[in-house]
Amino acid sequence: MEASREGQESIVPELEPRIFYNPRYEINELVKRGDMRKLMIKAAELHGHFCIGLAMGVKASMLALKELGVELPERDVTEHVRHELIAVVDNNLCFADGVQMIIGATLGNNSLVFRDMGKISLTLIDKKSKRAVRVTMIKPFTSPTIENEKFQELFRKVMVRREQVPKKEAEAFRSMMDRASLEVLSLPENEYFKVEKFEVEDVNDEAFKGPSVQWVKCAHCGGLVIESKAFKKEDQGKKYYCADCAGEKVYSVVGRKIDKISLSDIARLIRM
Ligand SMILES: [Zn+2]
Ligand SMILES: [Zn+2]
Repeated sequence: MEASREGQESIVPELEPRIFYNPRYEINELVKRGDMRKLMIKAAELHGHFCIGLAMGVKASMLALKELGVELPERDVTEHVRHELIAVVDNNLCFADGVQMIIGATLGNNSLVFRDMGKISLTLIDKKSKRAVRVTMIKPFTSPTIENEKFQELFRKVMVRREQVPKKEAEAFRSMMDRASLEVLSLPENEYFKVEKFEVEDVNDEAFKGPSVQWVKCAHCGGLVIESKAFKKEDQGKKYYCADCAGEKVYSVVGRKIDKISLSDIARLIRM
């Protein structure tokens, strides 16, 4: 891979060719070095804050890669998006962002599968070797800050009961959470996660590709829509309509659940 890039120039002058050709180069290097602290900082760039859940995702990702014995793939210039590693996350908590940042499997590159079961587990499938590993958290992280009584009390209020707390308490909780998330980075993964390895049958490549990008224009709002997702109204001269203009509800991930909702349902949810 490196050799084929020699002499190549980046068309983004501010980026070195090795970074332009693999924008995830820095993360790949941090994973190779096992630099948990810098990986956590990277993950927080995506997630928006430091927290224990994010650390769970970062650590689960690192353990899964280690157990699978694979390195993060480099970008393959012959493919639009690299799909070598498929990540399956079983929750849409902070955990999922740790996985997206470290593994590079995201909603947009179609190598992320989300199963709405609220379980702290990650399954990593290596399409090349047809091997997979599943890491499941079996006990909550512990650390000096996590064991602090005040932290436990605020955790129950803010995270379990989802209560609104006074600003001072919220700030105190935030700063303890920041500290705890860094403390847990050095915990031994194998004590907190169960590892299961298995072989996979041939992976159906088609299933993991995004929908084919064939644009059609919604006859009502003018928005561009992927043809396979548009609604065709035969009675109105075979025109295409987006789901909203066709009055159809669509599957959506909304915080606590996956539901079939319309655009007006979203407005209703926001008012709630
Ligand atoms: Zn978080
Ligand atoms: Zn429309």
